[in-house]
This record gives sequence, C-alpha cells and structure tokens, in this order.
Amino acid sequence: MESTNLGTYAQNTWCPGCGNFAILNAFKAVLGELAGEGYPLEKVVVVSGIGCHAKIADYLNLNSFYSIHGRVVPVAEAIKIANPQIKVIGFAGDGDAYGEGMEHLIFAAKRNIDITMIIHDNRVYGLTTGQYTPTSPLGFRGRSTPSGSKEVPVNPLQIMLASGATFLGRGTSHGIELLKRLFKEAILHKGFSLVDVLQVCVTYFNTYEYYDKRVYQLKEEGSQDSSLALAKILEWDYNSDKPIALGRFYKKDSPVFEIPVEGRLEPAERDAAIKKFIEGRV
Ligand code: SF4
Ligand code: MG
Repeated sequence: MESTNLGTYAQNTWCPGCGNFAILNAFKAVLGELAGEGYPLEKVVVVSGIGCHAKIADYLNLNSFYSIHGRVVPVAEAIKIANPQIKVIGFAGDGDAYGEGMEHLIFAAKRNIDITMIIHDNRVYGLTTGQYTPTSPLGFRGRSTPSGSKEVPVNPLQIMLASGATFLGRGTSHGIELLKRLFKEAILHKGFSLVDVLQVCVTYFNTYEYYDKRVYQLKEEGSQDSSLALAKILEWDYNSDKPIALGRFYKKDSPVFEIPVEGRLEPAERDAAIKKFIEGRV
C-alpha cells in the first residue's frame, strides 16, 4: 500500500510548521513499507489521547480509537490483550503521557506488554494554549506559569528504563529519516517500546533553533546494556544546554506480557500458558 493511501477526508487543523506533520508523515511511510512487506494494515490499531497530537487518528485511514486524556496506554493494552495478533500503536502528547498517564506507562513498561508508544513531546500543552508540562524546562513561561515554571522537568526515558521498557529511542520533528527508522524498529520490537519525539510546537514553544544547535545522532546505538543506555539518557536532562543524543538508546529481548484472556483457551491450556509466561520472566 502506498503511504498516500493512508490519508483521510479530514481537514488537517495543525498549525503550519507544527512538528506533528513530521510524525504523521514518518508513520505513514513506515506503514507503507510494512504493507509493502506483506503486513496487513487491517491488523494495525492506532490509539490517541487528547491534545493536538490526538488528531493524528483523524488523519490516518486505519483502525483507530480516540481515547481520553492520559488513558492511551490502558486502551492500547486492552486491545492487545483481547487480540494479541494486532499491532497496537499509541500516540500521546507529553502532558497526556508523562502527566496524567505516567502511571500507566510505568506499569506497561513493567509488564513489557507488546505495544508501541510514540510521544509527541513538545514540552507544552498546545491544544489548551501553552501551559507547562512535565517536560517543560525550569523557568518556562506559559499561561499557567507567567513568571516561569519553578519545577525541573522529568526525564521520561530515565523513568521508562527504570520501569522495565525494552525499547527506547528519541528523535526530533526535524529529522524524519531517523523517525522513520525508530518507528519501524519500535513497531517490530517484541515488547514495550517507546519513542520520545522532540516535536516542536511552533505556536507555544518554538524550540527548532534550540534543538538544531544541540542534537546529535548516536554513533553506537544502544542494545542490551542498561548502564550505557542510562549514561546516554542522562546526558541531557530536558533542561540544560548539554548535547542532546538522538537514536536508539536501548533494546532488549525479554518475555512479553501475553496472558490469554479468560474464555479464549481451555482452562488447562490457559494455566499452562500462564505458567510458561511466569517461568520465562524469572
Ligand atoms: Fe502544533 Fe503547537 Fe499548533 Fe498544536 S498548538 S498544532 S502542537 S504548533
Ligand atoms: Mg504537549
């Protein structure tokens, strides 16, 4: 399937220049590739939350579920548990995923459920016109912090690594080729994967120049070594003027959460599957 076939009749209402376009285009290109490689797109489900990012569900001709704020992960998990054959890809903003939704992310990473989360991390609430979020830098001036935010931001990749995520990457909305590669790797990864996209909000927090001066691509991408991954993840704390590493930080093969739902299997088969899953995790 050509990537253009994934478009819909919906009129795009993102601001001109918004970094969301790069995420949409990179994702369409990846799904076009997957379809070309024989993956049936009817077995893909996209979930979005609330925020500017969430409109991506309107712009993709795919099965989708427009959920509520902070609840992309439980909806995505439920779809995956109900039908493990489906590839479930969740889109969420930074306010959505790292604010209201953080506890869901932590537990999804902890159980290593096989879903992919793509975070539109513009470090501001765009749809509600510019309040600070968990990844806004100290001193960020917005609608809710006119004299500057008094909090240091969280480092979401650090939290995800500590929680047990088995694939972690970071890209920017200025680098569509890297986004394509990371999205494809994350989608094909068996286990919980998350790509943090430094997505520029041109209207409420225009960081294009800031990122262009600081980003660099990892020469050696991370694999199973969590210490190396952590060192790279901690290099930039979403606040300082340090260099910002992009690419894949971590990828580890680990048993995924695949407990069959009640009624799908005979009780004895279900018990055996659960036993196998628990033994695989030890
Ligand atoms: Fe994009 Fe920001 Fe406009 Fe939302 S407000 S569409 S994030 S530029
Ligand atoms: Mg945001």
